Amino acid sequence: MKPVKQPLNLVIVGGGTAGWMAAAAFSRVLGPGVCRIRLIESEEIGTVGVGEATLPHMKSFNDLIGLDEVEMMRETSATFKLGIDFVDWGGKGRRYVHPFGDHGRPALGLPFYQHWLRAVQGGADLDIGDFSYAVVASRLNRFDFPNADPQRIDSTYSYAYHFDASTYARLLRRLAESAGVVRTEGKVREVKLDPLNGEIAALALESGEDVAGDFFVDCSGFRSLLLGQTLGAEWESWSQWLPCDRAFAVPSARATDFSPYTRSTCREAGWQWRIPLQHRTGNGHVFASQFISEDEAAATLMQNLPEEALGEPRMLRFEAGRRLKSWSRNCVALGLASGFLEPLESTSIYLIQVAIMHLLPLLPTTPVDPALADEFNRRIEIEYERIRDFLILHYHATGRDDSELWRYCRAMPIPESLQRKLALFQHSGYIEQYRDGLFTLPSWVAVYAGQGVIPTGHHPLAEGLPYDRLIADLERLRDEVRQRAEAMPAHEDFVGRYAPAL
Ligand code: FAD
Repeated sequence: MKPVKQPLNLVIVGGGTAGWMAAAAFSRVLGPGVCRIRLIESEEIGTVGVGEATLPHMKSFNDLIGLDEVEMMRETSATFKLGIDFVDWGGKGRRYVHPFGDHGRPALGLPFYQHWLRAVQGGADLDIGDFSYAVVASRLNRFDFPNADPQRIDSTYSYAYHFDASTYARLLRRLAESAGVVRTEGKVREVKLDPLNGEIAALALESGEDVAGDFFVDCSGFRSLLLGQTLGAEWESWSQWLPCDRAFAVPSARATDFSPYTRSTCREAGWQWRIPLQHRTGNGHVFASQFISEDEAAATLMQNLPEEALGEPRMLRFEAGRRLKSWSRNCVALGLASGFLEPLESTSIYLIQVAIMHLLPLLPTTPVDPALADEFNRRIEIEYERIRDFLILHYHATGRDDSELWRYCRAMPIPESLQRKLALFQHSGYIEQYRDGLFTLPSWVAVYAGQGVIPTGHHPLAEGLPYDRLIADLERLRDEVRQRAEAMPAHEDFVGRYAPAL
């Protein structure tokens, strides 16, 4: 075994969400004896300034770094999120919620949706959303924490947050600095390589200082200054499957309906997000520039704001894809420096978190052991490709053919991995189950059903109950979910506990 140098000198470039998440996690989990951390960020360059919707994993990250939920809710003007409301995706006039949590309960050794499939294939008119506690609570604008008793139906969901990402980064910075992270404001002018082994030796700052380190974490955003520009990590574009490449973002006044979900409304050349915070609403129009002009895209956003705009729309450019290796030599990229899959389903902050969690047990050695890098890259590839397929499903399995973008997406060839998933589902509703990672079975069920992909069969074990009894059981469950959800507090009242001014 190679000797491990301690403390490891870790240098992070970037003070956006990725940089400060990494700084907070490494400093609080590893401590100064294992790792000495320096973070360099340029105020002149600034951060990307978007990223307000999260996934339920965020809570475990905050717990890990010791960020109190009450403080986070109050300081970042946060609201709760039970899922995403997809409007007009399956076809104009249709909508569904992708919830954080299960539909119903497993029975006869099968997940609930197999019994639901048998019921609808037998002629019953049952919306699978009615069996999800998170969907029903979302529709009623209600929120409460999941019940701790796993026997109860109101224990079967989880929740995430909508928050002000810049305030969140400030909270992380406070935690990281109190755990010993040293921040330097300044611009990296040059990345110096060791001529002997090609590893990064130091960063030359515009101030004239050279910052040396053992290991470098590239959180420089879309620039990918270290991994992409300097080490030349190859970029794989996925824009043939995820054609949106720009977004206009604009805040609007505080929402009157204070929803516990993000809304994603399908537009002719993309889609529009709506994210309610305590004090304002985040909005954005994500679009494919090959199908709409920038002027039209901005106008579409401004014409579809439910509240008064609080500024001018700001445009961001991106390309869906990733670096084939997130870890190369003595450098790992996190966040936008490693890849981006477009904002649908809010997966980017999750990808930062999961990369940090994969990196912690694979803590770099000096010199770097390539086996650690290979394992890290393998895990990140799995994460990205699962998310990629899930996002493509939203675009491809659409009932819409009313504009060029949607006709393109319906007809486009999809990755072989997604073809296989679709074929298995269409046959008997089979969905691959995995323990870790994002978008497990209930997420796929929600999007398949919501976008009108219904299998021709179901699992034979679902025949285990007489049909009449199955329908009676389902109706009872649907009533129970509704009654319990109706007894929850209004989301706005619940959030008011964290924001006395509301
Ligand atoms: P940035 O925020 O761009 O930070 C880069 C940092 O590097 C900055 O501090 C900058 O100053 C520094 N830097 C760069 N070059 C240098 C240099 N030469 N010297 C010194 N410092 C330098 N994610 C979600 O999870 N949910 C969402 O709802 C969501 N919505 C999004 C919507 C859009 C339109 C886009 C484009 C992204 C969205 N994301 C979302 C992604 C999310 O914004 C990012 O994942 C997150 O903000 C992390 O960004 P970052 O820290 O990687 O990069």
